[in-house]
Amino acid sequence: MSIKINGTGASNGIAVAKVYILDEQPIVIPDNKASDIEAELANVNASIEKAKTDLENLQVIAREKLGEEKAAIFEAHASILQDPAMAEEFTALIKDNNYNGAKAISEVANKYIEMFGAMDDDYFKERAADVKDVTERLIRYVLKLPVADLATISEEVIIVAEDLTPSQTAQLNPKFAKGFACNVGGRTSHAAIMARSLEIPAVLGLKTILSSVKENDVLAIDGATGEVEINPENKDVWNKKAEEFKAEKALLEEFRNKSTVTKDGYDKFILEGNIGSPKDVAGVLENGGEGVGLFRSEFLYMDNDHFPTEEEQFAAYKQVVQDMGGKLTVIRTLDIGGDKKLSYFAFPEEMNPFLGYRAIRFTMDRKDIFKDQIRALLRASAFGPVGIMFPMIATVDEFKAAKQFTLDCKAELEKEGVAVGADLEIGMMVEIPAAAVNAENFAKHADFFSVGTNDLIQYTMAADRMSENVSYLYQPYNPSILRLLKMTIDGAHKHGKWAGMCGEMAGEPDAIPLLMGLGLDAYSMSATSILKARSIMAKLTLAETQELANKALECETTEQVLELVHNLMSTK
Ligand code: PEP
Ligand code: MG
Repeated sequence: MSIKINGTGASNGIAVAKVYILDEQPIVIPDNKASDIEAELANVNASIEKAKTDLENLQVIAREKLGEEKAAIFEAHASILQDPAMAEEFTALIKDNNYNGAKAISEVANKYIEMFGAMDDDYFKERAADVKDVTERLIRYVLKLPVADLATISEEVIIVAEDLTPSQTAQLNPKFAKGFACNVGGRTSHAAIMARSLEIPAVLGLKTILSSVKENDVLAIDGATGEVEINPENKDVWNKKAEEFKAEKALLEEFRNKSTVTKDGYDKFILEGNIGSPKDVAGVLENGGEGVGLFRSEFLYMDNDHFPTEEEQFAAYKQVVQDMGGKLTVIRTLDIGGDKKLSYFAFPEEMNPFLGYRAIRFTMDRKDIFKDQIRALLRASAFGPVGIMFPMIATVDEFKAAKQFTLDCKAELEKEGVAVGADLEIGMMVEIPAAAVNAENFAKHADFFSVGTNDLIQYTMAADRMSENVSYLYQPYNPSILRLLKMTIDGAHKHGKWAGMCGEMAGEPDAIPLLMGLGLDAYSMSATSILKARSIMAKLTLAETQELANKALECETTEQVLELVHNLMSTK
């Protein structure tokens, strides 16, 4: 029987495929004694073999997809499984103390994790994360819990999960992962952002999808409207939707190689792409991107088992800058913390991690780590125009200190005889209301602003961007947000600086007329939104967007603002 559920369309496109249920039940270690020691040992040994086979497979896939270096991670994991000392310890607990297998492994693993984790050495801290990863897989097998490996999927599926972490999303191969549908999340969650850069449809915030599907069900998803149908009754309806999606894409084709010009000939707006890795540059260029407005450098850190070295980072940044062929590349410094964690670094536990030790607050506190990144960025700037952008800036002093640190690193490089680009710009994200309100003062020091609406909205409305329960407060079109945008853009212009936006709002068709009217200069979005944005700009004159923005700033509610936008666009 077919079941229809509605969620939030998070990445456009239509997909129909078998479900792949990623149901990672939490591990609960049982406390019972082993009743049959031999059977317990046999189960543990069989589980070790299964985990070993997984790791061998993962190694082969990682070698093909990600290169030799990443594949070595799985080799290291396999060697943990083969470590005789550890195996001896948990076997002894089972034999001598009647421990059940899961408890024995967990106790020994925890001892090693604590021991490595406490060492003041990054190498050993990484080993702690490795032991945790491997032994969790092993315990899942011992307890007969499902073990998911997204990288090993080798047939066309739609992934159904509670949530997908950024690193899980990064494992997906778009050839087989045709889309995903999750219980939680919205348009600005990182799973959504990754889906758009992989160009696969996604519907999030479905709340009950995981409990509604079962093995072998077929799922149809519409990543624009958020509609999902389990075991679709009428496949023709979905085929028609897929064709319509294709037709709309074809219509936008004519904008691929056109420049960005408004109906009345204004040609200074710039449409750029957001990327998470050097391989995303191709999508930006294919979609007619005029620059990279946001390179989220944290993916270099998250998709890794150690803090990337200066050389590793330099190679990645240089590649992006070179591939962009003279177009501006804005690279954001490490924005970690909040929902973005590192497997090899333990952040302090905090009540409100989104308001805590993250992004610039972390990097300026750990200049040893920050320096590698800044040096790599400065070196890459010798290969083309680069903007270095600091995330989560709240105070002018914070920006000035980060800028000074960058200039000190630059002086150091120059003293070493290392080239640094002449076109370097140093700017900041405006994603904390304090920065928007005080934009005029920041603009005296920053070369540019880029508004991070994903965070700016959550902090302004005090509404967690990941929470389904308060998603009604996530209102990009609320006049309070528009007023903050106006202050930011006017503040930049007053001091001759440019203002961009790299939050998801920049690519929203309803937002573009308003942003044009407010005078936003650069619009950075998922590569797949660029052509649509260009087509919208081509339909509008500056004067009519300015009139729209002025009226919108006087509105009381989101609904009133959207009505103004829809009224204008319905005449186009
Ligand atoms: C933002 O906050 O709008 C932004 C672009 O940064 P992120 O989504 O990575 O937090
Ligand atoms: Mg942000």
